[in-house]
Amino acid sequence: MSSTGEFAHPLQPVPGLIQCSCGRTDHVEAVASGLAIEAAYAAATGDDRVRLRDVARRMRDGDSLTGAAVTDAARLLGRAIAGLLTAVDAHTVVGGGMAQFGPDFLGPFADVLRTEGKLTVSCQAGDGDPLRDTATQVRMARAVQAGGALAIRCGGLADVQADAVAVDVPVTGLKKVDTEGVFITPAANQAFAVPAARA
Ligand SMILES: [Zn+2]
Repeated sequence: MSSTGEFAHPLQPVPGLIQCSCGRTDHVEAVASGLAIEAAYAAATGDDRVRLRDVARRMRDGDSLTGAAVTDAARLLGRAIAGLLTAVDAHTVVGGGMAQFGPDFLGPFADVLRTEGKLTVSCQAGDGDPLRDTATQVRMARAVQAGGALAIRCGGLADVQADAVAVDVPVTGLKKVDTEGVFITPAANQAFAVPAARA
């Protein structure tokens, strides 16, 4: 899959200290961007002149006030991306300026992504797959719910409908129609059909 998208505006549970580029304070960019880290560090220190690269340098030098500003942003971004991955089959996430924090940012980010990512289990089988029938997929969905999954991701309207009845956890649906290009829920009518099947 070769399509790409920018990830800045998903809603967050708590507002940040700055505005997103769109003006809201409860978007990813307002809580987990470089500017958000600068704002959190400024709030902790009273010094609003410290830029992101200096926060990174101070963190490497052991400045404890940088810790919460950076790890809070890393965890929030990890949660937000884990949520995104329940809806789309992205296999590469490209970060921006946060890379300069190295393990200080990527460590807590990856921890949250790993933990949250486990909560949603994908139960899908394409045409020709030995497991490709709705009854089998429903048994898999029930089994992964019993195993601790907090959400199920499945493919195709029949499976969405059946899984939604069979399990108590949220079901997210995708419709894959091809194996090249943009093949996940490529048409607007399919995007609308998935939520309709759920209801
Ligand atoms: Zn926004």
